[in-house]
Amino acid sequence: MIRMKNSSIKKRVTLYYSVVLILITLIVFSAFLLTASRQVNVVSRDTVMKVVQSSFEDVDYENQVLEIDNDFDIYHKGVTLLVYSETGQLIKGSVPSEFPGYTPLSAGTYQEIEDEDDTWLVYDLFNSYDNGQGIWIRGIYDMDNTMRTLYAVRGGMFILLPILLLAAIIAGRRITKRAFEPVSEITRAANSINNGSDLSKRLPQGETKDELYELSQTLNDMIERLENAFLAEKEFSSDVSHELKTPISVILTECEYTLQQNCSVAEYKESLESIQKQCKRTMSLIQQLLQISRTINRGEAIEQETFDLSILCESIVSELSLMADEKGVTLQSAIAPEISVYADETLLMRMMINLITNGIKYRSPDKESFVKLTLTRGENIVITVEDNGIGIKKEDLPNIFNRFYKVDKARTAEDGSFGLGLSMVKWIAETHGGSVSAESEFGQGSKFTVVLPKRTN
Ligand code: ADP
Repeated sequence: MIRMKNSSIKKRVTLYYSVVLILITLIVFSAFLLTASRQVNVVSRDTVMKVVQSSFEDVDYENQVLEIDNDFDIYHKGVTLLVYSETGQLIKGSVPSEFPGYTPLSAGTYQEIEDEDDTWLVYDLFNSYDNGQGIWIRGIYDMDNTMRTLYAVRGGMFILLPILLLAAIIAGRRITKRAFEPVSEITRAANSINNGSDLSKRLPQGETKDELYELSQTLNDMIERLENAFLAEKEFSSDVSHELKTPISVILTECEYTLQQNCSVAEYKESLESIQKQCKRTMSLIQQLLQISRTINRGEAIEQETFDLSILCESIVSELSLMADEKGVTLQSAIAPEISVYADETLLMRMMINLITNGIKYRSPDKESFVKLTLTRGENIVITVEDNGIGIKKEDLPNIFNRFYKVDKARTAEDGSFGLGLSMVKWIAETHGGSVSAESEFGQGSKFTVVLPKRTN
């Protein structure tokens, strides 16, 4: 494994690619040479043997006299032929001048004789005739004739291969560079987003749907989520500042006005009461914000356990009944028994309290009011909170789950209505993998439905 510190992927890919290419070339080249030289050897042996064998056709004894045909070729297909008597005396042909020394005759075997410059292949055959006499024919083949071609090819390859390798490496480097160009673009774009802190920008995605396209897509989705979260936080901070500013401004104006006048005790009392009202409002907002922050900050670490939701619903109804009675509202319930759920008990309790207290808060003054909590279990766990209160207009319905959304903007201070309760209900339902929806008829009443998936730990 080759390790390179501070080197780019481009360089590393080119390096690995070049090393692999060189290794493959060396292996292929060596295998080619080996096979080729073996093949040359096989072909040479075959040639010598055939030439020697066929040359016997031109030699025969007639009336005890050795006769060699005129067309006996002493040099055929690169093979020098020599005819020897039974006793080893040269009868026809002449030993090539470069052939090194005398080599004993040996029937049917291949002898390879090497000197400094050449390799010779020698093949002998002996034939005995009816008259009891015999002759030797020797074939001598200068292997270097054939090897020379191979050496020429090898020499050519030694020159050509480095050039081809170099060209392949340069081409490889260019291809890698081009392939990584989108990465450089993504890095440049990411840096510009980072430097300018501009989350509205997106990374380039290119046209081909490849891995880099997917990477950009994923990063863009992440940036979009960051942007949304950032905008939501910004909006939330500005809403909180606004909600806090209003009572403080009222308190300041009240103080300035009262201090400038010579007021009676009754006027001072009235002024203090007004200030107290604004302080209560501020306190209530701060408490709700703290609750949200505590609830949401527990975020991923919500404490889930399996518990009996039916029992929780019953206890909430009995706890809130008194408060409902005081406001002239009947709290009803239809709770299916023994429904267990895997969830965060405190969060589910907060969710149901918010829905029921809203039903009580937004009661209709001119009729007998009720709020009804039902709990059923089918494919999912379904909680509904229904009332016959003032209802919600169609145009307001889509917004009621937004933070700080209030239908009646004037309604705030006394009953701590800041438009935060339903946003928390939505967050709790969704955190448990569920959902919340609302139906309402203005002047008739509303129904909130929470659906929670059945889950076990
Ligand atoms: P708030 O603190 O103002 O009650 P919520 O988020 O709980 O805030 O509710 C948002 C708005 O939805 C309220 O201002 C109210 O107008 C409307 N709303 C909520 N629940 C009901 C209900 N049961 N009946 C009528 N209107 C409701």
